[in-house]
Amino acid sequence: MDDAQLLRYARHILLDELGIEGQEKLLAARVLIVGAGGLGSPAAMYLAAAGVGHIVLADDDVVDIGNLQRQIMHDTARLDVPKAESGRQTLNAINPFITVVPRVERLDGAALSQAVADVDVVLDCCDNFATRHAVNRACVAHRKPLVSGAAIRFSGQVSVFDLRRADAPCYHCLFPEADEVDELNCATTGVLGPLVGIVGSMQAAEAIKVIAGIGEPLVGRLQCLDALTMQWHQIKYRQDPGCPVCASAR
Ligand SMILES: [Zn+2]
Repeated sequence: MDDAQLLRYARHILLDELGIEGQEKLLAARVLIVGAGGLGSPAAMYLAAAGVGHIVLADDDVVDIGNLQRQIMHDTARLDVPKAESGRQTLNAINPFITVVPRVERLDGAALSQAVADVDVVLDCCDNFATRHAVNRACVAHRKPLVSGAAIRFSGQVSVFDLRRADAPCYHCLFPEADEVDELNCATTGVLGPLVGIVGSMQAAEAIKVIAGIGEPLVGRLQCLDALTMQWHQIKYRQDPGCPVCASAR
């Protein structure tokens, strides 16, 4: 690290658990963020600010006026700009010394598999179950840690799925695909703006922990927030031995 980097990242380097070694890991890290919306905005901005060296930002949508209430990586001047590109501009304004790769597409199939294979950590910041399950399958296949966040109305959730651990459940163990009958999304249901900021920021925190190998990530634990009462609760869950996604991959 040069002097400018030591100054820029000093408040992380000052943390004994992170230090120079942890900061070097962040600088060397490659992260895929699926979704450049409400969750992806704070997640990507904190990871860029932290100096995560290579961030792939995937989103097939463009900035809409209805996004700006919560998707703080975008602004009024960027209406109709692809979110991945708008995000790249914001992230590189925060930190010009990292590489941000905008992918203006809905990653699936072989492209998703390759994108996951190419990174160290994946953040699921999307808004639909089909993508969540596709991202989970790719992360299980490539043994990549997945930091998952969700927010709707006043309810938020965060968890980490890390199949590098033998006892770690996957997303499908927690939310089997068959259970998803009534999908809610923010476009039709509404969501408290700062709630996605809280959840996306927690995803960034968990990703930093996973990259640096510090603390205890939310593996096997679902952290839930009710923003109306501002009460947190945590649900522990286990591997499903019959899980069609991860059981055979172990
Ligand atoms: Zn599973």
